[in-house]
Amino acid sequence: AKSQGRNNIQMFGEMQASAPGYEDSEMTARFAAAVKQNLLQVYYQPVMDATNYRNIVGVEALARWHDEKYGWVSPAIFIPLAENLGLINEVGRQVFEQALNHFSKCSGVCANLKLALNVSKRQLVSNDFYEMIVAMVQGYGMNPGQIILEITESIALQGVDQAKSHLQKLADAGFSLSLDDFGTGFSSLSHVHELPFDEIKIDISFVRRIKTPEGRVLVKTIVDMGHAMQQILVAEGVEDSETADILREMGVERLQGYYFSRPMPKENCATFISELLQINELAT
Ligand code: C2E
Ligand code: MG
Ligand code: MG
Ligand code: MG
Repeated sequence: AKSQGRNNIQMFGEMQASAPGYEDSEMTARFAAAVKQNLLQVYYQPVMDATNYRNIVGVEALARWHDEKYGWVSPAIFIPLAENLGLINEVGRQVFEQALNHFSKCSGVCANLKLALNVSKRQLVSNDFYEMIVAMVQGYGMNPGQIILEITESIALQGVDQAKSHLQKLADAGFSLSLDDFGTGFSSLSHVHELPFDEIKIDISFVRRIKTPEGRVLVKTIVDMGHAMQQILVAEGVEDSETADILREMGVERLQGYYFSRPMPKENCATFISELLQINELAT
């Protein structure tokens, strides 16, 4: 069971929503029970400053579910499951609650960091989402300027008009908005202009191809167009130093990926952050 668990961890981020078990009614029941018992966990992955790999800009909160039978199940599987079950608002609420609680208690080392939260489509367009997130952020003594809300390209640009009013309200309240998985939605970058985004996250599938001439041109085009639209560029899925350096030279502002750190529990993340702070202090 132990080695199986390790395998599952290695598969994080690689698993697709079509993986076996997605249609599994037992998994569905076990997931619903886990949500009811508040058993979801939150891991954090650092987002780094591309101009100095020792500067951390913030962390992205990523939901985790460990089940006794299935091991670690990827959020690429259980988030769509939650949407289909009508549980996404509850899942989102639990994840936000945990992340805001952790982050507010980390006030020392986390003082100037941003907390990125993923928001699914159903969540974004649900009636009480705005009130919920505003009240929760206030309740933890934080302000919306510390929070980045990540919305995937497919949902933001599918129904531009529907998403627009929701996004505008959040932007007006001071939240930063990030267009996640950019490049996967086959939509025109010009649509981004119509929505109040601050940041574009270049999808891992493009970052993976950056060492090929075609891949490099594609990413460079996204970066230049993004900058022309006053967006901050973030690359996800940075797995080695060569990729990081290419992205930095292209002018991408922020980098995220296994090269810097995998997503990790809050204790490990706090250690990661304070070690960086110590190293930076020694260097100055
Ligand atoms: P995402 O928001 O695009 O998150 C980035 C994903 O890439 C994460 O997968 C992360 O673990 C993975 N990743 C980061 N760096 C690397 C790397 O260098 N190499 C590789 N191969 N993968 C990397 P994860 O945690 O499995 O999450 C998958 C997706 O599930 C997320 O994609 C996000 O769309 C969704 N998700 C996760 N947590 C939540 C949540 O709390 N709410 C909502 N609505 N969606 C969530
Ligand atoms: Mg994300
Ligand atoms: Mg992403
Ligand atoms: Mg992605």
